[in-house]
Amino acid sequence: MINLEKEVQFIKGVGPNRVKLLNKLGIFTLEDLITYYPREYEDRSKPKNICDLIDGEEALISAIPITRLTELKIRKNLTICKLVVRDETGSCQITWYNQGYLKNSINIHNRYKFYGKVNIKAGKVEMQSPVFDLENVDKNTGKIIPIYPLTYSLSQNTIRKIIEEGIKEIYGKMDETLPDYLIEKYNLYDINTAIKQIHFPNNFECFNKARKRLVFEELLSMQLALISLKKNIDKEKKGISFRKDVYISDIINKLPFSLTKAQLRVLEEIEKDMESEKTMNRLLQGDVGSGKTVIAILSAYKAVKSGYQVAIMAPTAILATQHLESFVNILKDTGIKCELLISGITKKKKEQLLERLSNGEIDILIGTHAILEENVVFKNLGLVVTDEQHRFGVRQRSKIVAKGSNPDVLVMTATPIPRTLALILYGDLDISIIDELPPNRKKIETYAVTKQLEQRVNAFIEKNVNQGRQAYIVCPLVEENEEINAKSVMELAENYKTKVFRNYKVEYLHGKMKPKEKDEIMDRFKNGEIDILISTTVIEVGVNVPNSNIMVIENAERFGLAQLHQLRGRVGRGEFQSYCILKYQGNSQIIKERMKVISSTNDGFVISEKDLELRGSGEFFGTRQHGLPEFKIANLFQDINMLKKVQAICNEIINNDENLEKEENFRLKKIVDKKFGERIEI
Ligand code: ADP
Ligand code: MG
Repeated sequence: MINLEKEVQFIKGVGPNRVKLLNKLGIFTLEDLITYYPREYEDRSKPKNICDLIDGEEALISAIPITRLTELKIRKNLTICKLVVRDETGSCQITWYNQGYLKNSINIHNRYKFYGKVNIKAGKVEMQSPVFDLENVDKNTGKIIPIYPLTYSLSQNTIRKIIEEGIKEIYGKMDETLPDYLIEKYNLYDINTAIKQIHFPNNFECFNKARKRLVFEELLSMQLALISLKKNIDKEKKGISFRKDVYISDIINKLPFSLTKAQLRVLEEIEKDMESEKTMNRLLQGDVGSGKTVIAILSAYKAVKSGYQVAIMAPTAILATQHLESFVNILKDTGIKCELLISGITKKKKEQLLERLSNGEIDILIGTHAILEENVVFKNLGLVVTDEQHRFGVRQRSKIVAKGSNPDVLVMTATPIPRTLALILYGDLDISIIDELPPNRKKIETYAVTKQLEQRVNAFIEKNVNQGRQAYIVCPLVEENEEINAKSVMELAENYKTKVFRNYKVEYLHGKMKPKEKDEIMDRFKNGEIDILISTTVIEVGVNVPNSNIMVIENAERFGLAQLHQLRGRVGRGEFQSYCILKYQGNSQIIKERMKVISSTNDGFVISEKDLELRGSGEFFGTRQHGLPEFKIANLFQDINMLKKVQAICNEIINNDENLEKEENFRLKKIVDKKFGERIEI
């Protein structure tokens, strides 16, 4: 059988240069390659009448030249070839640039198929740089052509050819991954056909069948993985009953603010779970700024005062550090000891810390992934809180849980997921929702603007900074890259620092900096020593600087709505009126619609539903930015019915064969194990 782990460098036509580009796309192995699914398809199979062509569309026509191909030299490096063709309904002028060799390929007596972009000006139909074939040849036309997402410097043609090679290698040789009885019962394509047809469908019916099979498999393995996770938890012994005579209200009364009704309700739910001997597995959902951290602190207090240790996991060092500050601040008079574990700390310090942790001197350990390491041993771990949990995976969650004896688990997320979806995706968790913001919050005014307003935006930032405020400028990528022309932070920062805002204190922050450097900059920003902070999305989660009241987002069209909303939540945290300015490019309907949604509402749930709805083909961001589990092919909005169906099938399978031990489910066990082996985002 075929080795899917084979590296892409061994595929025909892939040299060192292309290996690098493929790696950039996350393609390392043959398997990565053949599961790099098309983003959309061009139908070059059905010709349209010239009289029916629509301005701006890409279309196929079948026509005969009525002029010779003429070549015009415009300037030194530019020639234009023109050709007029007609079909039974009209005529069309075709233009190519710098392709004089075509003179010998086009014969006035033949009929051709042309596929390209249509321009109609004053009734005159034109097509620019089309690909073409003789009428009875299907090389560039006559079929459905896959279009791949995000290809950097690889042209569509190149990546298509590489994938074609990949498919040639594996076709007919891949092991089936689904049990035969499922394939039969649900009338699914076998894996070989599905993979081939998803890339190069014979027709749209084949495409639909291929997609159905792959979506089915993807959703099924996720559901099965979720169920086994739940089982892991359930089958263990009783959970901890935390002490009923530890009163959270002792701390609540000392807070500088009063809790919202929603916070109180959620706390009650958590306290009840904690006091009962049932193991808590609870998802805490709440919009950015809704006050989840204080809930974590109060729960931790209860756990520690009941004699247990607490682990708090945050996705970034910045966030972990900030949590530590909040914890220390609120718990300062309680004698509770909080410590920070991130990868940046010195070896010696770490040793001491681990020592104190294992003998119970540390009550609350706050940190990043570093907490998951084997040598981090708790004496008596009773409560685990993971913040922004979509950053972690199911596997990480079970890893940390295994450091205690059936500890209670609280998973916090700021991704507002529509409830129906949450019930399916987080089937293993109970759900609490903070659906109310603290009363002192002002609505963040959001404006979507184009490049033309840049000067005014800059002036607006200056005005606010002059009044003592601070601003964030967020841009999407660290590296300049040609195809999508992303703005690099550095380049932008340089420009802002030395030109636009040269009279202000400007700094930048990005994910590739050392944790220490990042922390230092963040500290300076918090202390007001930096006026304008330019950064990538590393500041996305949880950062809290109440004095900053402006967030400018560059290339806002590149972000998912839910992510824009998350980012925006970094401002509006203090007493000042706050603003979010979305600079966007492009005038597609979908971009405009998205900008409208985000400017018109502050409700995370509305935004999340719209985000799923407006996401479709042609998007270059995946679900990762949305905070939902990441799928290669399934789309939770589009495939919600399939998801429900799969959930039912999944329950049936598990009822029959709880541990997937039966021979008929051998393949299922394999795909689930594989899912657990990866960094899955559930
Ligand atoms: P998130 O849900 O995004 O994690 P945080 O817990 O960081 O939100 O809370 C945001 C800010 O609001 C913090 O400064 C916190 O101290 C404050 N806060 C939390 N709850 C309340 C409340 N009930 N009233 C006023 N401020 C609150
Ligand atoms: Mg938070």
